[in-house]
Amino acid sequence: MAISFSLAGKAALVTGANTGIGQAIAVALAEAGADVALAGRSEPTETIALIEATGRKCVNIKADLSSIEPVQRVIDEAVAGLGKVDILVNNAGIIRRDDLLQFSEEDWDAVMDTNLKTLFFLSQAAAKGMVERGGGKIVNIASLLTFQGGIRVPSYAAAKSGVGGVTKAMANELAPKGVQVNAIAPGYISTNNTAALQGDETRNRQILERIPTGRWGDPKDIAGAAVFLASPASDYVTGHVLAVDGGWLAR
Ligand code: NAP
Repeated sequence: MAISFSLAGKAALVTGANTGIGQAIAVALAEAGADVALAGRSEPTETIALIEATGRKCVNIKADLSSIEPVQRVIDEAVAGLGKVDILVNNAGIIRRDDLLQFSEEDWDAVMDTNLKTLFFLSQAAAKGMVERGGGKIVNIASLLTFQGGIRVPSYAAAKSGVGGVTKAMANELAPKGVQVNAIAPGYISTNNTAALQGDETRNRQILERIPTGRWGDPKDIAGAAVFLASPASDYVTGHVLAVDGGWLAR
């Protein structure tokens, strides 16, 4: 039997897909055959056009994911538009940088709420339908700071380490129900999220020196892993955090 990376007939929901990694993943899922719902606070005009150009259906859901208030509505609108949610990609995320000794409660809560709390409760809401239908895929976007501490980003390190934890926790309970839950840990990818690092000549050089592949990643570098983890080809993979980092963690 041929191994299937096809997502034909599947419905996916991707958060934060107006730009960056989320956009690349949403378009790749459509190219692999899925209809795609987008949930985010900014208008994803370009992403909608790219998905529709593949011939797949695209549903746009306006939602500020800094709290769990819109979570059930997001799932309801995705189901109303696409009939179901087979694949959830929790990509929306923020980062706040400041010295540890003055790091504020606001910068702590904002990152923990968007990057971890909403990710968990959106997954919970999506998983109910997946369990009812006997299958599904949840892909969380983690980080190298799921494994490392970083510098001047304590709430991001805490939230992304938490993403690794809840990925495994969800995987354990949902595996018997046919739902796989995995995460992708992107390395240094050139997006809005890392614009400050790319613009800092010293940090940029230090980062490039450590990446065996010798370049920043492109959002498209993450898309192949996302399609794999959304497809039947990964049906026996669950609770895993897959680094897509040009070899960073191997150093
Ligand atoms: P990005 O270009 O800044 O994209 C982040 C996405 O999340 C945007 O669509 C953003 O929408 C959305 N978002 C943020 N807060 C939101 C909110 N309250 N409600 C709804 N949507 C919200 O950065 P990116 O690099 O592609 O990041 C995507 C994910 O990858 C994040 O989880 C990030 O932590 C992770 N990651 C990135 C890297 C990297 O090197 N770039 C490395 C490891 C992990 P707006 O445009 O409206 O802000």
